[in-house]
Amino acid sequence: MVKKIKKRLEKFCAVCGQKMKIISYADRTYRGGHHFGRFPLCTKKAVNEVLKAGTKKETIFGMEIQVLKKDPKLYRYAEYWECPKCYWGKYPRGLFKR
Ligand SMILES: [Zn+2]
Repeated sequence: MVKKIKKRLEKFCAVCGQKMKIISYADRTYRGGHHFGRFPLCTKKAVNEVLKAGTKKETIFGMEIQVLKKDPKLYRYAEYWECPKCYWGKYPRGLFKR
């Protein structure tokens, strides 16, 4: 069966920065890279604000725990892609090693 190509995409590998040519098919599969979904990103400033706000004590199920007073503000979601080279372990820095 010949798959119908829906669109061609250009993505960058999150590990080595190499440009990938992704072919996306009508049945929602793709080839040319490995997609790991979307990741929330927040700025350093947002993280610093959270750390400055500190933690507070909360009791959950009778246990006292420290929770952050604030959650970092997310500014966008990034798609995480790895090129086949990184995915297959030629570079040891890949995020998702099996
Ligand atoms: Zn790569």
